[in-house]
Amino acid sequence: MTDSSTARAVSPDSGAPWSVAGAWPAAPGVHRIPLPLPNDGLRAVNVYVLESEGGLTLVDGGWAIEAARERLEAGLATIGAAVGDIGRFLVTHAHRDHYTLATVLAREVGAHVSLGAGERANLDAMHDAGPTGTPSGGGSAVVLRRCGAPGLAAEWVRHAQGLRVDLSEWGHPDAWLDGDDVLEVGDRALDVVPTPGHTRGHVVFADRAAGLLFAGDHVLPTITPSIGFEPAPVANPLGDFLTSLARVRGLPDLRLLPAHGPVTDSSHARVDELLAHHEQRLAACRETVAADGSATAHDVATALPWTRHARSLGELNTFDAGLATMETRAHLELLAARGELVRADHDGVTVYTRPADRTG
Ligand SMILES: [Zn+2]
Repeated sequence: MTDSSTARAVSPDSGAPWSVAGAWPAAPGVHRIPLPLPNDGLRAVNVYVLESEGGLTLVDGGWAIEAARERLEAGLATIGAAVGDIGRFLVTHAHRDHYTLATVLAREVGAHVSLGAGERANLDAMHDAGPTGTPSGGGSAVVLRRCGAPGLAAEWVRHAQGLRVDLSEWGHPDAWLDGDDVLEVGDRALDVVPTPGHTRGHVVFADRAAGLLFAGDHVLPTITPSIGFEPAPVANPLGDFLTSLARVRGLPDLRLLPAHGPVTDSSHARVDELLAHHEQRLAACRETVAADGSATAHDVATALPWTRHARSLGELNTFDAGLATMETRAHLELLAARGELVRADHDGVTVYTRPADRTG
């Protein structure tokens, strides 16, 4: 969810709010260039530029809008480089603020694009949906109907049809990354670590020798990432996400280089906070179902507070209310997978109840 404290968070590399324009020294040989997003509470997306003799490698590419391209060119100019020096994009996941400018620039300058193999299903679903973004078999509107939120689903479809997707920005990458890949970037070795949850094919890149974690949206320092917002949804995205957090917790404690927000010192500290947050949210979902006897994801989302300002679901805009409802479903699905709730399908809507043998 968006959070206004994110905008003010100061990054140690710039000594200023993290989204301020520039090319900031995040680590030796690594520059952080925040790029603007259109109408987005996240403020900016960090692109990390890794210098090596063979040219520049970028971790994530930004959103394909003119303002982002201009900001990238200006940032690269301050380190004596230009977009033509980019040889490679390593993209953490197939969301538009990470992937689309990478594909557009790569085509223009002949750069190579890599993406986690698990994202293939999402790209294929986008192409299946076509330029209006209305999916035939999956997608967010379908999930929202299962959540018992037909009104949000209808608004979501209306909104999606107003924004035609330029499928030329969503081509397949040159390479699909797997979990055992180790990428050579100059004299660096980047471990590819699959971290499904935010999306099914999200990956992070660990530079153990330099003590760096290029974390994409898997571990964000000031907000909790959305869960399973993707064209080809999976059954239990929160379960995947928590498993992925445990995987990253099993790496050494690394400097956190996130896609949104400031650079921070400890990946372990933030992973522990995220795990605690989700356990609290799971408990709140379980208690809401217990109090109501039975509930849909939309019922539970309506009962819970949202953002650090404790807003009600009805106070959020359609997009945030949809994300909040889908995130609630992700929590309920995990509770069902753990046997702490029972799920049943009623005319395409999932209803959750307490197991019969539990009381109190
Ligand atoms: Zn993002």
